[in-house]
Amino acid sequence: DGLWTCHTLEKASSFLTSQRHPLSLYNFVGGQYIAPDNASAESSQRIDSYEPKTGRLIYTLPCTQPDAVEEAIKNAKAAFPSWSKTSRAERSAILRRVSELLQQNRELFAVWESIDQGKTLERARIEVDRAISNFSYFSTFILHEQTAARMVDGVALTYEHRSPAGVFALISPWNMPLYLLTWKIAPCLAFGCTAVAKPSEVTSMTAFLLGGIFQKAGVPPGVINIIFGDGATTGAALVASPLVNGVSFTGGTQTGIAIRRLTAHQIGKHLSLELGGKNPTLVFADSMDRLVRERTIRIAAMAAFENQGEICLCGSRIYVERSVHDDFVREFTAYVKDKYIVGKTVGAVASLQHYDKIRRYLELAVEEKATFHLGSAPPALQDNEPQGYWIEPIILTDVAKDSAIQIDEIFGPVVTITPFDGEDAAVQLANDSEYGLAAILLTTDGSRMRRVGEQLEAGLVWVNCWLVRELGTPFGGMKNSGTGREGGEHSRNVFTVVRTLHLPAY
Ligand code: NAD
Repeated sequence: DGLWTCHTLEKASSFLTSQRHPLSLYNFVGGQYIAPDNASAESSQRIDSYEPKTGRLIYTLPCTQPDAVEEAIKNAKAAFPSWSKTSRAERSAILRRVSELLQQNRELFAVWESIDQGKTLERARIEVDRAISNFSYFSTFILHEQTAARMVDGVALTYEHRSPAGVFALISPWNMPLYLLTWKIAPCLAFGCTAVAKPSEVTSMTAFLLGGIFQKAGVPPGVINIIFGDGATTGAALVASPLVNGVSFTGGTQTGIAIRRLTAHQIGKHLSLELGGKNPTLVFADSMDRLVRERTIRIAAMAAFENQGEICLCGSRIYVERSVHDDFVREFTAYVKDKYIVGKTVGAVASLQHYDKIRRYLELAVEEKATFHLGSAPPALQDNEPQGYWIEPIILTDVAKDSAIQIDEIFGPVVTITPFDGEDAAVQLANDSEYGLAAILLTTDGSRMRRVGEQLEAGLVWVNCWLVRELGTPFGGMKNSGTGREGGEHSRNVFTVVRTLHLPAY
């Protein structure tokens, strides 16, 4: 209960300090938190979770074992017949209540998200607002769905009938925990499906609190179940279960491939996979004109370093037209140094494991003799002493095209800058990646915006802006960045099955 009284970072921090033991999170199944002594429904194995800004152990979560995963799925299955038959108006009202309750607890969720993930409080507030919008958007969307009927050859009237697809596994990563989990839960429930949701084992706190919001909003028991655990045990059991009709997954490409394998024999299972990215930012010389220069630098910096670079849409490979390359590097570095301050506008990275991964890439950069314009390889942290996982923004040039730093998704505050000559080369460099999630194009030339924008192999292209989004637009990646699209009617395709009916026209 103490968790619900922490409306400021200071209060939450002193609440954690006052605890003799780390907090314990429990699964939310069948509308109830599963008590710790109920060993049949909960594994005794637990996972430790650390606060990124300090490195201290703050809570433990269950590593839910396959039998308990199955139990949660059965709850979702049992709730499906009645939930799928509720009217759109009823579901809309419940989702609306969820969004109102989240709104009332906005600061509390932002505080815990910031503590749990390492992000700044300001960034956490933006994401809680987006989570609120996820519920309000789909609560309205389902009220306005329409089906058009068509006459076929004068003999049949044909129309599409959609019905909820069943029980879903909803699995999310650790970078934007509440926002990404609710981006799945909201449409899933709105379109009449039930679910077992599993947040990342690295950031489970706000998903734990969400259970309380669903209880208060009157979501019927079993409609949404939230279980905790790792990928190999809990996640794998969840996606592979034959009782699960669909999977909406956001996370790494390798995990997406594993999920494809796990479900390969279940052809009809709906799969929506939102995976990794290594997104290019293209800076054309015209975008460094005096009047727009500040905007160009600001957008490129925001795209590189927002949320410590821990956003799948971050532009981590910057390509700059050669004539303005040196000016850009100098001004970009000065801007980032001034605006992206560790501990103020830059948070800690999410976990020690992730810190070590980023550190290894930066040691490689040193080995490969890349030029560090800002930042340096961070030190290895000692095991015996809790320390925050802080990495200052890193700006690199002179990174070879085939270096792992240029190819792999680092998913941290690390950006490379490379010169290009001409539009064709820019497109080629941008597309030279296994990924195809997002691309950022900075230019003032109106015809180039479309000409280049339409050639980029990316599900999302932003021109002179970044991260702006309307929830009805299709969201998703090309190539190894994913399959399927989510958002508005695209989410409807994920969570419903469609049958085409042909009625006689007489
Ligand atoms: P991850 O793939 O390691 O884990 C994501 C989730 O999958 C976690 O909940 C994890 O427990 C679970 N999982 C792991 N193995 C599993 C398995 N075999 N079966 C089922 N579930 C399993 O990713 P991460 O490190 O948490 O997140 C970072 C990645 O997420 C990055 O690659 C990033 O680009 C990506 N991401 C993509 C988007 C997008 O919209 N495309 C958004 C945010 C993050």
